[in-house]
Amino acid sequence: MPMSKNKKDKPLRFPANLVSPIAGFLVSNLKRLENRKREISKEDPFKNAARINDNASPDADAEEQFGHARTSAIREQIDRQIIQTRKALTRIKIGKYGICEDCGKMIDTDRLMAYPEATLCMKCQAKREK
Ligand SMILES: [Zn+2]
Repeated sequence: MPMSKNKKDKPLRFPANLVSPIAGFLVSNLKRLENRKREISKEDPFKNAARINDNASPDADAEEQFGHARTSAIREQIDRQIIQTRKALTRIKIGKYGICEDCGKMIDTDRLMAYPEATLCMKCQAKREK
């Protein structure tokens, strides 16, 4: 029997002893992101518009517009991070953490250490961003 058979049959899996601390990190990260999102919503001047609008000077108006644009941009970014973190947690649940969604190859551990919510390898990520 050729030696290589065993190696080939070994299921592609991220080391189990690393998955559990990563899952813990992702869960606390998700909580932090959701809290941040709530805080940002409170900061949005449009949410407090009734208070400001009564005596709005043009300056206050511009500031309000700017504040809203800024908080929306931050909120969008947080939303993307929340989605990505949830996705990574789902990958853990189904036992596919660390495996690229697109090509099915192992994601570089260096990449996962720097970006634990990654669900795509560097190559496929670059392809999607094109
Ligand atoms: Zn890939």
